[in-house]
Amino acid sequence: MTLSESALGADWIGACRDAVAGLHTVLAEAPASRERVVETGTRGEGGDHTLVIDRDAERAVFAQLDALHSAGHRFTAVSEERGEVDYGGGAVRVVIDPIDGSLNAKRLMGHYALSIAVADGPTMADVAFGFVHDFGSGEEWSATRGGGAWLDGVRLDPALPERRGRDGKLELLGVEQADPQWIAASLDGLTTSARRLRVVGAIAVSLCQVAAARLDGMVTLRRCRAVDAAAGQLIVREAGGFVAFPGVGDPLAAPLDVAPHAPVVAARTAATLAQLAGIPRA
Ligand SMILES: [Mg+2]
Repeated sequence: MTLSESALGADWIGACRDAVAGLHTVLAEAPASRERVVETGTRGEGGDHTLVIDRDAERAVFAQLDALHSAGHRFTAVSEERGEVDYGGGAVRVVIDPIDGSLNAKRLMGHYALSIAVADGPTMADVAFGFVHDFGSGEEWSATRGGGAWLDGVRLDPALPERRGRDGKLELLGVEQADPQWIAASLDGLTTSARRLRVVGAIAVSLCQVAAARLDGMVTLRRCRAVDAAAGQLIVREAGGFVAFPGVGDPLAAPLDVAPHAPVVAARTAATLAQLAGIPRA
């Protein structure tokens, strides 16, 4: 076994659960919105203003990565605030959003999540493990490549169907990056595709809703970053759904780095995926 294979075989779900415990502490120390709106004064690698809770959440995750590295595992971390961090190189990439849905976390609204993906190559197709912990619902979502997707220890049924109304439109479509001007730019495509929209406000969590067929599909209205989508996209695919990153060539060719490359689209059927991928964007 090579070192990089050994890194893939580390106890990732254990590390993720320990990171969740660390994030619970960070969030408990900033229980109110007035504490959660405090910014560090810097911007993350993704370009957003970094909140103190983002920074502290990332520290909690990196404490777990430090421990895995000390135990002999080699990998490269890709995280929302710190960017790429070398833990000895090799092919394994660990793609982290310490808090997906920071705006929800800051405003104490609904869903926000820790998202961690582990890959043995450079693209979305190479993700071998995905983990999303939703601090709003308390739900733990995970998937292993070829091993199915799991919600709180129960395997998700890959045969779950989509729902469409009598008019043929999807019953419920998730929309992320819901800036009104971007909704306006995609309005015709959204109107012909869906009866109702839901804006969760966290890409990883929206993807998980498609995995469980609570949403019939989801779209981002702009290019997303790998840290937002890497874990959730595996969870959707292992739960029988379909995912594409339109505009990067192969549907899953989006790179696992810090730059935004492509929107992400997910659905329960290949036909719906193609329909949603074709919605024009700003
Ligand atoms: Mg974040």
